[in-house]
Amino acid sequence: MQRAVNCYILPIPSKTANEVLLALREIIPGNELQHLRRLSKPVYLPSHVVANLPPTGFPPEQSLLYILICQTDKAPLQQIAEIVAKTSPFQRRHGRPITPKPAVSVVTVPANVPTSPEQCVDWGKKYWPTVYKRGNPFGPHPAMVENTVAKLTRADEYMALARKVAQEVGEAGVGYASGGVVVDPETNDVIAAAGDGRLRPSDMGWCNPLSHAVQRLVEMVAQKRLKRGEVVSPNNPITALTETERIYLNTESMGTLDGQRQNGAEDVAEDGEFCGHADNTSYLCHNMHVYLTHEPCVMCAMALLHSRVGVVVFQHRMIRTGALIAKIDDGLGLGLFWRPDLTWKFLAWQWVAVEEMKNEVPENISA
Ligand SMILES: [Zn+2]
Repeated sequence: MQRAVNCYILPIPSKTANEVLLALREIIPGNELQHLRRLSKPVYLPSHVVANLPPTGFPPEQSLLYILICQTDKAPLQQIAEIVAKTSPFQRRHGRPITPKPAVSVVTVPANVPTSPEQCVDWGKKYWPTVYKRGNPFGPHPAMVENTVAKLTRADEYMALARKVAQEVGEAGVGYASGGVVVDPETNDVIAAAGDGRLRPSDMGWCNPLSHAVQRLVEMVAQKRLKRGEVVSPNNPITALTETERIYLNTESMGTLDGQRQNGAEDVAEDGEFCGHADNTSYLCHNMHVYLTHEPCVMCAMALLHSRVGVVVFQHRMIRTGALIAKIDDGLGLGLFWRPDLTWKFLAWQWVAVEEMKNEVPENISA
């Protein structure tokens, strides 16, 4: 933490959060400490912080939130106490035998904005629930890029696996030779591996033109997250087309995605933000790394974005249909990984191989 400040915090019943925030609107700064959660459940506060907090005065069954009010040098404690004492949680009313006094206390928090998701998570554990915004229109922070590159040490291995599954679907004639894998960067677990499936006729006798490798990858993650054996849609379970696909569809490995699902979607990440307590999201591929043999098309790039992946690495550029390259020889590309108008952003790289892949997807076919 480069610079620390002391802030007032106050526990209040969850139902009264809006009322208390409204009462404190003149004190709560509108443009300061926006990287910190204004309201937080006690469960998301660091345990050592909770251990030092005074009793709230509310019954234990009461659902509470802590308000981060302002820096201690911005307003006197007496003023804050007088304001909140007039709000309903602290007003004596008929039928309420005990009216708690506002239990304002002080915590130390980082004054500056986190420069990486990792720092955001670290601060959330040490100080206060923190938000990392990827909203920089000029691109990701250099520290974020540097930290992420440091995690890509096994790119060759994962790209080889993507090529393997691409080759398998190509040789089996069930799809174009395009493939990919989803990897958990925390555990290095391969969560899913899938190839293109557009050339495989269904039982109805028609091929699915949307069975791009990325779509099948995301479907596999969804199916695994619904626990193996269940299907995403009763009429459309995903089927492994090759041996490699079968291996990863049938393994239990789900990396940190398992914990995310169990914790539920109660605290979903806000648009364009990375939450300090990142375990609490139900997005399908939250912060996963995806390795692809080919640059994804618009449909697939948006599927990756909506799944909230963290990184995409692809090998072959798709000149006509690729959606990730931001700058092409004769102008601007779509750059569908980091644009100000996107609700989520991820990092993307092109992986440069020494050898060229055989039987690659024709340039007039989307990947
Ligand atoms: Zn596609």
